Amino acid sequence: MTNMDIYSMYKTMGIDEKVFNYCQEVEKKLTERFQTIDQIAEYNQAKVLHAMQKNQLSEAHLFPSTGYGYNDIGRDTLEKIYADIFHTEDALVRSQITCGTHALHIALAGNLRPGDEILSPVGKPYDTLDEIIGIRPSTGSLAEYGITYRQVDLLPDGSFDWEGIRNAIHEKTRLVEIQRSKGYATRPTLSVEQIGELIAFIKGIRPDIICMVDNCYGEFVEMIEPTDVGADMAVGSLIKNPGGGLAPIGGYIVGTKECVERSAYRLTAPGLGKELGASLGVTASFVQGLFLAPTVTASALKGAILAANIYENLGYHAIPNATEERYDIIQAIEFGDPELLVAFCEGIQAAAPVDSYVTPTPWAMPGYDSDVIMAAGAFVSGASIELSADGPMKPPYAVYFQGGLTYPHAKFGIMKSLQRIVEKGIKIW
Ligand SMILES: *Cc1c(COP(=O)(O)O)cnc(C)c1O
Repeated sequence: MTNMDIYSMYKTMGIDEKVFNYCQEVEKKLTERFQTIDQIAEYNQAKVLHAMQKNQLSEAHLFPSTGYGYNDIGRDTLEKIYADIFHTEDALVRSQITCGTHALHIALAGNLRPGDEILSPVGKPYDTLDEIIGIRPSTGSLAEYGITYRQVDLLPDGSFDWEGIRNAIHEKTRLVEIQRSKGYATRPTLSVEQIGELIAFIKGIRPDIICMVDNCYGEFVEMIEPTDVGADMAVGSLIKNPGGGLAPIGGYIVGTKECVERSAYRLTAPGLGKELGASLGVTASFVQGLFLAPTVTASALKGAILAANIYENLGYHAIPNATEERYDIIQAIEFGDPELLVAFCEGIQAAAPVDSYVTPTPWAMPGYDSDVIMAAGAFVSGASIELSADGPMKPPYAVYFQGGLTYPHAKFGIMKSLQRIVEKGIKIW
């Protein structure tokens, strides 16, 4: 099998030989890094499998429950599997959790009481938390329930402001919110090790403070998770990494028995908690997606690294850069040019398995102060573990690129983005 054998298929799909050869050259230099990622995936695959075997996952667990969902053994087994993978006492993994934002709200609202204060020691949290916390006034925000918020920014070099954090902790501080991924901010993503140091510092001041980690986009990128380094709770979305591309909806909260129970009481109702919540047939997709999640995450990670290397080589600013350690699956590339940003997204869309014939166009989106272009042709609507890209139409014209259920597909998407740029006559080489 030669490169040209592979190229024959890509040629049919509109990739020039020059684009293909260029990507092959860049990819060749990444062999060692990709090997490390495969090893992490191998470890995490075994971790997931072990949890499934230990809990005797059975065919009967894959069947749906309806109505109240009392005694749904499949749902309960899935939650035990999550708890084992994250090394926590308990877990809440539900289709009734709409998305990551909802999971974060349940965890916060369930565990905080009037008079409590939230501290974010890593700067401003993800945008959708603004209205939950009440950073931007909103109906039903935690602020309306008398829960206050304080924030300590990271220092200019991206490190923790230890002194500032110490000073921000007082008797009202009840919960510390630590966001692992940078999301769409410019700060660096935190490693699990860094999160561990931060938690140890906070627990050293006040051991009773709940340390909660927004784990979105970080699951299975490393061999350990935040709950392995002292987090009382980790929270995330199933249409990102842990759903493995198969979960059609859902979110999770893993953590101590008390934290999970309080969250469950908030999700359903006080007194009901985890006992209710029919699975309606999604358990099979949840467990199968979880089974695939380590290799799917590895594929997305390799795609991100390939994109960083290809575009950095061409002179664009990649964040994280071509050689940096990775702690989440998000890749940003600053194009500094609206035409390039649009062409990149058009290429990603053209590479999609669903809606490949659609042309993405910049559009006004709620919550954004400029038009935004979004490329996604996903099996699960809005799933960002699937190959997708988006960017606000304003300087520095950065595209945020993430996902890829398989590495070959992520690679094809990157080739297609470059192809589109070349076709539009933009001088790039
Ligand atoms: C995606 C994300 C969220 C919110 O998840 P949704 O499923 O989009 O609601 C929260 N925090 C971070 C860091 C994220 O990446």
